[in-house]
Parts: sequence; structure tokens; C-alpha cells
Amino acid sequence: MAENPSGWAPKSPANMDNDAPETVTGNKALMLEERLLFEIGHHLKSGVDIDDVGDVTPRIGGLARDRVDLPGLTEPETVRHYTRLSRQNYGIDLGVFPLGSCTMKHNPRLNEKIARLPGFADVHPLQPVETVQGALECINELAHWLIILTGMHGVAMTPKAGAHGELCGILCIRAALEARGDPREVVLVPESAHGTNPATAAFAGYRVENIPANAAGRVDLEALRARLGPDVAGVMITNPNTCGLFEPDMKKISDAVHEAGGYVYCDGANFNAIVGRVRPGDLGIDAMHLNLHKTFSTPHGGGGPGSGPVVLSEALSRFAPLPYTARTEDGFVHLIEEEDAEAFETQHFGGPLDSFGRMTAFHGQMGMFTRALTYMKSHGADGLKQVSEDAVLNANYILRRMEDLLDAPFAHSGPCMHEAIFSDKGFADGISTLDLAKGLIDEGYHPMTMYFPLVVHGAMLVEPTETESRDGLDQFIDAFRHVVERAKGGDESLKGAPYHAPRARLDETMAARKPVLAHKTPAPDGSSTGLGARYGGG
Ligand SMILES: *Cc1c(COP(=O)(O)O)cnc(C)c1O
Repeated sequence: MAENPSGWAPKSPANMDNDAPETVTGNKALMLEERLLFEIGHHLKSGVDIDDVGDVTPRIGGLARDRVDLPGLTEPETVRHYTRLSRQNYGIDLGVFPLGSCTMKHNPRLNEKIARLPGFADVHPLQPVETVQGALECINELAHWLIILTGMHGVAMTPKAGAHGELCGILCIRAALEARGDPREVVLVPESAHGTNPATAAFAGYRVENIPANAAGRVDLEALRARLGPDVAGVMITNPNTCGLFEPDMKKISDAVHEAGGYVYCDGANFNAIVGRVRPGDLGIDAMHLNLHKTFSTPHGGGGPGSGPVVLSEALSRFAPLPYTARTEDGFVHLIEEEDAEAFETQHFGGPLDSFGRMTAFHGQMGMFTRALTYMKSHGADGLKQVSEDAVLNANYILRRMEDLLDAPFAHSGPCMHEAIFSDKGFADGISTLDLAKGLIDEGYHPMTMYFPLVVHGAMLVEPTETESRDGLDQFIDAFRHVVERAKGGDESLKGAPYHAPRARLDETMAARKPVLAHKTPAPDGSSTGLGARYGGG
């Protein structure tokens, strides 16, 4: 049993016993296994009684319902099915979720309370604007605060995720270049950028060229300067970058790009590290997305949807996508669509509006706007500043408590921002970052981001976020250190981990190519559904 320096109670040895007899049900004590909906449902079962509709042939896609064989369950069966599945889920409400670059932060319950108020929850995008003034006011106010926090000129509220926001920003850049009759072909992307950056540039039709990172994990400014020229539309740079480091040369980079006639896209997904302390507008940035589901605490991943407003410089604002909101002097908030855009152009952009088009059918993710605005207002300016301070403090605490044991390639170049990066240097032969991650699952922790960014060998990128307590961090660090020691000491058993998870180590290739989704537990009628013991046969 590993020592627990922070003194929290270890699991009892009985729970760690891998030789425990298998159960006939597949259940492990009160952790229940669950068969697939298609195995437990039946097309004649339903949660509600529906009146006999008389003489019609029910058809779905041209087929009678019983031939489609959609699984039906009773109401209690449905509740149990999804509750059982939810117990096998890991989420931010269960424990530390240290995924680097993802900013899996706590979702305050106040956000949910506000978003569920009927006036917010029940609005419809096609309601007449007179009836949704409150909702439009919220979008407008959130837009205002995003502009203030970033020191930018305008904001496009409609993009529905970070990557969608990147596309919006790059399309604004393309529209600006085309408007001046200077379409360019190349977008430069530093090695330390997030993978979505080159993907976005390529999707928008640009040729992507790489700019190397220097030994300190930052953009090589001289290499960037050397590549700039009349064919370069702009750069896409992540700051703080994916090594968890701030790019101190950002202003110099922006100036050089502007001088060469290009634009600067900054990936702002890591804004959690600098909110309230740095204004991207002061760094010469032209476009930057903000992930409301990261920095501004709206639910992330399966709990989404996401939302990725894009703040824009004066040079790009007039190319922003429609629709957007604008308030007139009488206090009325308008929703600006194509037909009436002309009337508002001078008021908002100080020049002819030249929108590149639309990103979405309606106005963006209203439910997320409500939550993000609630978060901002409940924290206030000082609270948001504290968020970035605490996030950075927590990441540095992990960095400094791990660096004696685990290689931290950039630790010498000073503090990190909101995430700490480690490499697999020093692991015993044959033991990998993946093995370590699986070992962490056995310890009850969702693993950190692995093998990303590519500039660090066997990378482990750890982002604790600001709401983790010192105790919580200590427990995580104890577990992390224990598994690192096993990896460095060549503990072969790590290669079979996880042992205590509902599913053991998968053959990841087989699981992707030939997924075996059926369960090994016999169906109640005794027939076997057994297409293999485990997902992917692993
Ligand atoms: C999360 C993330 C993205 C993509 O954002 P989505 O909302 O997932 O589309 C882009 N860049 C960085 C640095 C990120 O962390």
C-alpha cells in the first residue's frame, strides 16, 4: 500500500483484491452492469399509454413500427437504465478533471438556477423581438462584458464552439483581405498551437505552414519574422499556448504580422489563465474566440452545448457574421438581420458593414449566454481576476510538487500558466504515458491530457482549474506521484491497468475498428447476447 502523505484514508485492502470471484450478474456489489437499450427494450413497450388511433398504418421511414424495432421501455425501466449508465460516468461533479487545454471547470449551481427561469428557458428564436427584450438585453450585456474584458472592438456572439469561433475569425480575416483586393494563401501556425488552428485554416482554404517552437516552448519569433511576406494572410497562435506558457513576444508577433499586411488570430481557449489581467486588444490581436464552456463555466462536453463568441479588432468588426444585437437610443434592443443591417452600420462599426454571412440560423446558444453572464455578474471584476490567479496558482502548485519526480521540460523557464506539462522521460523501458493514465483511473482520477502537445515526448498536460482545494490537489498529487513511481520503477502490472474500472484495458484498435457493444451478461430469457466478453475483446 502506498503511503499517503496527506493522510487521507486509503481504500481497504479487500477492495483492492483482484482475485475476488466473478459475479454471475456482472454487477460489482451495488455498481450495476447495464445491458444495451436494444437488448432490454421491446417495440411494444412504452412509457405512456397512447389512445388507439384507429385505422392508420404507423410508418417510420416507410416501415411499419414493429419492423424498425425501436426499443421501448417503461418509465421506471428508462429511469433505471439511464441512472445506471450515469453511475459509470466520470464528470467534474465527481472529482478532479485535470484535462489540459480543456478547462473542465466547476459549473456553479447558480448558473443553472438562472438559466431555468421560465423567461430564459422558454424563449423561442422566432418570437417577435418585442417579446424577448430581456433575452436580447442579456446577449447585448454579455457581448459588452466580453468586449470590456478583452479590450477589443466588437464581438460575434453566434459561433457555437471554440473551433466554430476559429472558423468565424478566419472567415473575417479572409473577408477583410478580399475587401482590399489582396487575397492571400498562407496561414502560419506555430508548433505550440492547438490542433484545431491548422485544421481551421485548412478548412477555410489556406495552406498551412508550421513555425517552430524554441527551447523555452515559445514561438520562435525570428523564424516567424523570416517567413512573413505578401502571401501570408495571417497567423493563428494559441496564447497561453498548449505548453501552458504565456507568449511574452505576443505584441512583437502582432506588430510583425501587421507590418507584413496580415492579421493575427489568437486562440483564446486558455483565457481562463489571464482573464481580468491581460487584455488581448492591447496585444494587437485581431480575432480571438472565447470558450464560454471553459473560461466562463458553462457546462462542457456531454453537458454542453458549447459557445464560442469571437472578439474582433476594429479592422475586422465590420465583417462579423449576422445576426447581431444592437440597442437604439430609446433603449430597444434590435436583432440585426441582413435586410436592416444598413441602417445600423455607421452606428456600430463606423464604416460600411460588410458581413461575410452567417454562422448559424439564429443568435447563438442562449442557454449558455445566460449561464456565462450569471457567472460574470456573480464574480464581478475582482472575482474574475481571482479566477485566473487561483487557476495559475493551482497549476504551479502541481508543477512544483511534481518536478523532483517527473520531468517538467519547461519548469526552468519560470512559472507555468493554468496548466503544467510533463514528459515521460525516466519511465522504465516499455512503460508509457498511456499506462500511467490507466493507473490513474484505478486510483479514481480521470487522466490528464496525454500525448499533446506534440512538442513534448509522451506529454502529460495537467490543468487543475481554480476551484480545486489544497486538500483536493494534495490527494491528486499523492496518487499521481504513486503512479509515476510505478512507471519509473518498471512496475509491469501497470500495463494491465485499469483493474478496478467497469471495463479493463481495451484493445484500442479493435475497439475502434470492430466495436463489440453487446454485453456478456445473459438476457433474462437465458439466451446469450455474448458477442465477446469485453468491448473490443480486450
Ligand atoms: C478547447 C480548445 C479549442 C476548441 O474549442 P471547442 O469549443 O472544443 O471547439 C481550441 N483551442 C484550444 C487551445 C482549446 O483548448
